[in-house]
Amino acid sequence: MKRDYYEVLGVGRDASPDEVKKAYRQKALKYHPDRNPGDKQAEEKFKEAAEAYEVLSNAETREKYDRFGHSGLEGAGVHGFASADDVRRAFGDIFDDLFGGGGGIFGDLFGFGRGGGRAAPRRGVSLKCEVAIEFEEMARGCERTIELTRHDVCGECRGSGARPGSRPVSCPQCQGRGEVFRSQGFFSLRSTCPRCGGAGGIIQDPCKRCEGRGAVPGRKTITVQIPPGIEDGERLRVPGQGDPGEDGAPRGDLYVGIRVKPHPVFQREGPHVVCEMPVTVAQAALGDEVEVPTLRGVAKVTLPRGTQSGEILRLRGQGIRDLRTGEVGDQLVEVIVEVPRKLTKRQEQLLRELSETEARPTGARRRGFFESLRKMFRDRM
Ligand SMILES: [Zn+2]
Ligand SMILES: [Zn+2]
Repeated sequence: MKRDYYEVLGVGRDASPDEVKKAYRQKALKYHPDRNPGDKQAEEKFKEAAEAYEVLSNAETREKYDRFGHSGLEGAGVHGFASADDVRRAFGDIFDDLFGGGGGIFGDLFGFGRGGGRAAPRRGVSLKCEVAIEFEEMARGCERTIELTRHDVCGECRGSGARPGSRPVSCPQCQGRGEVFRSQGFFSLRSTCPRCGGAGGIIQDPCKRCEGRGAVPGRKTITVQIPPGIEDGERLRVPGQGDPGEDGAPRGDLYVGIRVKPHPVFQREGPHVVCEMPVTVAQAALGDEVEVPTLRGVAKVTLPRGTQSGEILRLRGQGIRDLRTGEVGDQLVEVIVEVPRKLTKRQEQLLRELSETEARPTGARRRGFFESLRKMFRDRM
């Protein structure tokens, strides 16, 4: 028993051609075999949706179906689809605009490469590469020259794949249709022509230079501008720098993944730059003028008297420019008070003198510490 085509696509009987197309796209995406590997049920649904779309997207067959149901389509050239590949060949153009012309991740995901049937010429394959930049380069923006292997249209045959002076000839097995029909009882099954692979034409005399592929690999140097503030792991898209498309269709894109190398001093916190600054006990207690490294050179900073370990000094506008808002972050300097591990005789003597002057306990924090300690023991006993 065949299901109702409108029900299959989930549209009303008065759906416009556009609504039918949209509904089919959604089903095709959902049940695509590449998304549901090994799932027979999904494949059946994928083929079922394609059949429904084939009938409802054509005004003539739709009218027959509306009037007489499935029986109205006998002899109307509705064949159904033997495999997901058949669907792909029949409706490749829909997938193309759905997935951005075969480029990018969906193109890779669904494997629409060259020679995918008689649909409109496909955009070229998108390429990927990765570059590593220094932290400082990230902060101010930089330029990188990338060398990569990319295909170019073969200059000898201008991409046709046929030897200059010859042309692809119509495939003798399918007469250029790209698909063949096979009768099986009542039904006629259609499948991709095995001889030409769906292209409709065959090259009898292949171009020597590209061996009939129409494109040749070559080294290419591309300069990429990396904007300031880019995040580690972000991808830059360089349009039109991928492989060439079929039959003069546009090139795919180049995606450049950016790695920002870790910095020995600086870390990034959104638009802010964070670093630690070690100071001595005396500096922290007495205050000092200190020099702090920033992305733009060395800054003189006043360390206030009585600075505690872990306190943060903020240098306004010394951070990273935000790619989107254009605002510049700050540099956050965390003060680390270092207690000396080794003392000279003189230092030890001075510290002992200091110690004698200190009434114990001293400082708010220390007082609080002893109070909670006492309370803890009282509660336990
Ligand atoms: Zn060639
Ligand atoms: Zn053929």
